[in-house]
Amino acid sequence: MLIRRAMLFAVCATVVAGLTMAVPAVAAPSSAEDRASARLDALRAGPDGLAEFLRAFPKGGDLHNHLSGAVSTESLIRYSVADGLCIDKATLTASAPPCTATQRPASDTNTDKAFYSAVLRAWSMEGFDPNGPESGHDHFFATFGKFVAATDRHKGDMLAEVADIARRQNQFYLETLISRQGSAVRALATKTGFDADFAVMRRKMLDGGAMAKIVTAAQADTDADYAQFDAALKCGTPAASRTCVFPKRYDYQVGRATDPEVVFAHLLLGFELGQVDGRYVGVNLVQPEGDPIALRDYHLHMTMVGFLRKLYPKTRVTLHAGELTPELVPPADILFHIREAVEIAGAERIGHGVAVRHETNAAQLAREMADRHVLVETPLTSNAQILGVSGPEHPMRWYQRFGVPIGLATDDAGVSRSDITADYVRAVTEQHQTYRQLKRISRASLDHGFIQGASLWRGPDDFRPVAACAGSVLGGANPGQRCKQLLHDSPKAAAEWAQEAAFRALES
Ligand SMILES: [Zn+2]
Repeated sequence: MLIRRAMLFAVCATVVAGLTMAVPAVAAPSSAEDRASARLDALRAGPDGLAEFLRAFPKGGDLHNHLSGAVSTESLIRYSVADGLCIDKATLTASAPPCTATQRPASDTNTDKAFYSAVLRAWSMEGFDPNGPESGHDHFFATFGKFVAATDRHKGDMLAEVADIARRQNQFYLETLISRQGSAVRALATKTGFDADFAVMRRKMLDGGAMAKIVTAAQADTDADYAQFDAALKCGTPAASRTCVFPKRYDYQVGRATDPEVVFAHLLLGFELGQVDGRYVGVNLVQPEGDPIALRDYHLHMTMVGFLRKLYPKTRVTLHAGELTPELVPPADILFHIREAVEIAGAERIGHGVAVRHETNAAQLAREMADRHVLVETPLTSNAQILGVSGPEHPMRWYQRFGVPIGLATDDAGVSRSDITADYVRAVTEQHQTYRQLKRISRASLDHGFIQGASLWRGPDDFRPVAACAGSVLGGANPGQRCKQLLHDSPKAAAEWAQEAAFRALES
């Protein structure tokens, strides 16, 4: 075992020649693991067998998942019909009834196949032509505004579908992004106005229980989601789906392309929710990073997050940063986003991070991210579709050479017409990942999840079991007493144990 580990170190050291070695020890390789690894290598060339193998492969947690972009487009169309929505004939944007002369009832999709497929294409990447007049970036982001009305009354249905997909894809945790109470937050922000002194602005928003009322309303929305989730999956009945007990949490997503007081008010709501409601674990900033307002206020947003996170220690931070290419923004704007997300906002995870090699002093930044154990949520399919970045152009392996932890993610699998297996396939075919690298990615994507509880592992990115479980067979049916106690007390450790059990099953 010691020899093996030394050999592994030697291999890594060769790869990272000239760089600081930042890859900590991994769990000891086993012969079962060797066989599974050989099987993956045999399947590398053939796409069909590879996808099947990776569908069964345990794939950690999905840490970068926008609920409305994750649900299938077919479901969104179904919701539109059920809710009697109207669809604009020219833009294919859904809205509430009654329908005007320039709109058609969504129910027309039931009888008019051409209309159905036009809506499907407008609301997703289905049939998208990368050589057409519209860029993948623009088409992708435009879909959300077209279908958003369809999501209004179905958050719980969507959560049920997306959690069910994750479980069936052999994932063990879902952290999905959602916003709440948009009108109330905007009204409060407008009334309060902007104040460069964040403590004063926060105080004004909290005064008289104004924000507390919104927090209560957001929790009531969440109760309603959960009730709808339970109904959709028949939870609490003899026919209950296994997804009823699947671990899921929300991150609060804040649109960044709007007035600074509105961004601050949404951030405040997200941080407040994370502090008082265990269903919310983190905050994130979303929307195209190259939007003119998002660019103008990027530094301001980072200082807002950095200010608030110190006041709300239970709420964790992950940020979209570096979802850019040089074509999307002026040269000066690609130099610092990831660094400021890490150093000023204190992000524990970075979404995308694709533009890292364009940042000032990129190698030092990567070493800093490795030292701080900042995981990069890496949605390979989304990056290919939106940014046109894939294969050797993608920085995934560059990050790995510095020891930066990677978690594969779907981003918006519904819009992408994709799933997490496809991202793992890309990781093998385009990023040349080995079996053990994939296993490390799966473990990291659970361990860097914001789900509550102590880890099964000894330290961040050190995948040796904690002392309580060191004497037990990893993922075995009969953990020792202390290990059993940990799994009982910690939702995170329980999810990690379930994944280890799945690895044992796969490798046997
Ligand atoms: Zn995203």
